[in-house]
Amino acid sequence: MTNFKNTLNTRTKPIPFLDLKLINQDYEKLINETLSRKVSSGWFILGEEVKTFENSFAEYCETKHCIGVANGLDALVLLLKASDFPKGSEVIVPSNTYIASILAISLAGLTPVLVEPDLNTYLLDPAKIEEKITPNTKAILVVHLYGKCCDMEPISRIAQKNNLKIFEDAAQSHGAEYQTKKAGNLSDGAGFSFYPTKNLGAMGDAGAITTNDDNLAGKIRALRNYGSGEKYIFEEQGINSRLDEMQAAILNVKLPNLDKENKIRQAIAKRYLTEIRNTSLVLPFAETVEEDAWHLFVVRTKDRSRFREYLMHNKIGSDIHYPVPPHKQAAYKELNNDSYPISEKIHQEILSLPLNTTLSEEEVSYIIEKINLYK
Ligand SMILES: *Cc1c(COP(=O)(O)O)cnc(C)c1O
Repeated sequence: MTNFKNTLNTRTKPIPFLDLKLINQDYEKLINETLSRKVSSGWFILGEEVKTFENSFAEYCETKHCIGVANGLDALVLLLKASDFPKGSEVIVPSNTYIASILAISLAGLTPVLVEPDLNTYLLDPAKIEEKITPNTKAILVVHLYGKCCDMEPISRIAQKNNLKIFEDAAQSHGAEYQTKKAGNLSDGAGFSFYPTKNLGAMGDAGAITTNDDNLAGKIRALRNYGSGEKYIFEEQGINSRLDEMQAAILNVKLPNLDKENKIRQAIAKRYLTEIRNTSLVLPFAETVEEDAWHLFVVRTKDRSRFREYLMHNKIGSDIHYPVPPHKQAAYKELNNDSYPISEKIHQEILSLPLNTTLSEEEVSYIIEKINLYK
């Protein structure tokens, strides 16, 4: 094994995994103008900006409704709460998801039931769902992880056969498509996050629910605002999870560029997929490049810490999404002794390469060149 630490790296400008200042630079002027207008307007909660964003994002996802909320976790909690499943009902969720999908189920008073992903796509494996269905199962929460939509056709068949609802955690898949339909429009309802690092990111916390179900939409609209449909009249015990006008205004500035930005991500992903040649790496599933939102470009390698160190030595940032599987977290002690070998393997081997709208051709070439030299 060659020791890369003895080689000199002469690159002066490091490539960060993600620079939140840089990705927002082009929007700065317009956002400042918009926010300044908002400050003068005196209207800060549930006003025109939220209404405009809800309409535009529903149109973007081609859904009937969009309801803005405070963050992605709340979006999922409210979807599940509004569904009125009996307390303790089971919801199927992938074992390798970000913990928020699982927390949402628990916070809604329901029981998460973990199902392993497919090792090639990192997405919920339809073949493993039915063995986990019991008389208490009420829903499947699919997660379009890393920006790729789940294989919805077989999942929908299983849901129909077993009378289950399907919900999407679309927090990483703004603009991703499955058979020409957009993420957020592939189920009974979807939760989005606009956390600053997401494909469509606010400058603070923000989230939304999309759905075609009038009844569900009406309920969620009330639940996000203390359970009030009409001012000072409370039909249900809701929460305060409103999308604020400032974040909505920022999202209104950024949404028109989402497709363009996703295309930039796709172009970088395409270069990585065709130009990275290194047998110690497993590249992501490449058959749906044009449909994926490429939130993250995740590779797998046996000796991850060494590869990561090599990248760091070459001034290339990286990140791990995520290092510890949910069932091994202290927050889920009841799951700590369960075995999810695929999920465990994924969490041990994955590494996310830089993939964002600010990477230059030169930087992408440099990353590819260095990765191809890794031994
Ligand atoms: C970011 C994320 C969430 C949570 O969104 P927040 O806005 O941070 O609450 C949920 N699920 C997945 C898969 C995410 O990536």
